[in-house]
Amino acid sequence: MTGYYSSPFPRRASVGVDVGGVMVGGGAPVVVQSMTNTDTADVDGTVAQVAALHRAGSELVRITVDRDESAAAVPKIRDRLARLGVDVPLVGDFHYIGHKLLADHPACAEALAKYRINPGNVGFRDKKDKQFADIVEMAIRHDKPVRIGVNWGSLDQELLTRLMNENQAKGFPMTAQEVTREAIVQSALLSAHLAEEIGLGRDRIILSAKVSGVQDLIAVYAELARRCDHALHLGLTEAGMGSKGIVASSASMGILLQQGIGDTIRISLTPEPGGDRTREVQVSQELLQTMGFRQFIPIVAACPGCGRTTSTVFQELAQTIQEDIRRNMPVWRTRYPGVEQLKVAVMGCIVNGPGESKHADIGISLPGTGETPSAPVFIDGEKAATLRGPNIAADFEKMVSEYIENRFGMGTRARAAE
Ligand code: SF4
Repeated sequence: MTGYYSSPFPRRASVGVDVGGVMVGGGAPVVVQSMTNTDTADVDGTVAQVAALHRAGSELVRITVDRDESAAAVPKIRDRLARLGVDVPLVGDFHYIGHKLLADHPACAEALAKYRINPGNVGFRDKKDKQFADIVEMAIRHDKPVRIGVNWGSLDQELLTRLMNENQAKGFPMTAQEVTREAIVQSALLSAHLAEEIGLGRDRIILSAKVSGVQDLIAVYAELARRCDHALHLGLTEAGMGSKGIVASSASMGILLQQGIGDTIRISLTPEPGGDRTREVQVSQELLQTMGFRQFIPIVAACPGCGRTTSTVFQELAQTIQEDIRRNMPVWRTRYPGVEQLKVAVMGCIVNGPGESKHADIGISLPGTGETPSAPVFIDGEKAATLRGPNIAADFEKMVSEYIENRFGMGTRARAAE
């Protein structure tokens, strides 16, 4: 796994957890994960979506395990994925009856690489601790890690009520919002402590505490990070649709990641009707890459365009190059090792075009209003060609392909090693 960490803040030390061969925490690069929205009992549909999420770059994929039919489907999904060469670890998402499903479907318990349980709905009243313990014991028996995932939409109401009452008895030193945040943190920590008492190792526990407010998320995770060394899964729950979901997730998680907090992320975007589920993977990668924490895919820098832009050619070219890169990356990853470091620039005019292009590995400055209809191309900081005529876009795409082959191709490496 390629990765690096470049925040000025030290990375928070956490206990690493091996999730089916993918390391979460312990200094490993921040892991991108996602979740399907298919009915897990639909083996064909779930296999197709897991494969698509993995192809897009998801390093862990969570699936819902909500009833006998979906639990029975899990080993079939695992087998089908193996036959397709998709080895991404699968995480089972359990609510209410996870203890029963795992006990009744040992093949499901074995096929999953991690169990996610929610202490707020693992069981109620006197059954809660027993059912939580059943799942933890199942994880120990099958040697699987567990994510204890608190969500404020299903927060342990007994705990919240107790903390509210204690706050009231002390004369309300904390606001209701502060008490709720504390209840979320305590729910995660108390459950982790209980799991450890039952015998689950610290290196088998990941914590999450998802809320839907940006400031709440930052406050809750900062507190969790301060009070434990468990690996942390970051995610803003119910982030929403489109740009709102992306902005809210990036703002909250970006601040935490910058402070060294977070070992794996999921961006919970609501897809538009008929929308592409892999968008959440793309956004997670872009968040980590633009912050300088991981490299997944070549970056295309493009100016926004303005009154000097003469046509939509540069927008179309930037889009085409970006889409080509994303489509080709599954193959390029193996054919062109290191290609994710490539920087391409597509600029609209002479004002910033040549300068930005020189900072990229390969860049083009398209002609703006009043400029000679020619497009200088810069390679490794030097002007390498001037494109003219109606085929500028196609010619530049060809130059990008040749640059990738020359710089990252295996043949080039072999020749260089001779
Ligand atoms: S590079 Fe040129 S076209 Fe692009 S935003 Fe700047 S001035 Fe406008």
